[in-house]
This record gives sequence, C-alpha cells and structure tokens, in this order.
Amino acid sequence: MRCDEVAAMLPMLVDDASTPPNLAVEHHVESCLRCQAELARYRRLLRTLHQLRTRFIEPTPGLLGETLAAIEEAAERRAVRSILSGRRLAYAGAIGGTAVATAATALLIARSRRRSGPTLKLAS
Ligand SMILES: [Zn+2]
Repeated sequence: MRCDEVAAMLPMLVDDASTPPNLAVEHHVESCLRCQAELARYRRLLRTLHQLRTRFIEPTPGLLGETLAAIEEAAERRAVRSILSGRRLAYAGAIGGTAVATAATALLIARSRRRSGPTLKLAS
C-alpha cells in the first residue's frame, strides 16, 4: 500500500469501531514512520476537537457590563454622527435659500429702478 492510500483510510482506522480492522493498512502504519506521524496528528486533532466540545469558558465578572457599555457608546456615536450630518444638510439648505432670496431681491430692485428712471429734475 502507498502512504496516500493509507492517509485516506486513517479516519476509519481511528473513528469507526464498527468497521473490521484493515490488516493491510495496520501493517503499513506499523512499518511506516510517515503514516505513524499522520495517525498521531489525526488522533491529537480529534482529542482537541473533543475538548473544545466539552470546554466552557467562564466570562470575567464585568464582561457583560463592559460589552453593553461599548454597544451603547457605539450607538450614541452613530446617533451623534447622523444628527450632525442632518444639521449640515439643513445649514447648506438654509444658506442656499438665503442666497437665492438675496439674488431675487437684488434683481427686483434693479428692475424697478430701471423702469422708473430718474424722477428728479432740476428746474433752473
Ligand atoms: Zn506510509
């Protein structure tokens, strides 16, 4: 047997107790250092995965409060940012509206002066 064929069968060798032992695979692993190392890595991986399944991490006492405070801070920052961007739009609109009104007023004044013409005549 070749090593790559054995590597594909290693999970069955370790995991599945219901399958009958494959003597050719076992014989190859006993005589091949590379496959023994692969088998050891696979068993270590399975042990680690099993530990992860049963291991619980205790949170530190203040973790919940710190997390909630961080969430609240982030929400406040976002709200302030959205208010500020809304005010910028309002200021820009107000400035634009004032400019348009000033220009219209100036145009009306200029027209009314042109129509009426000079009214003051000096008599000598
Ligand atoms: Zn091998």
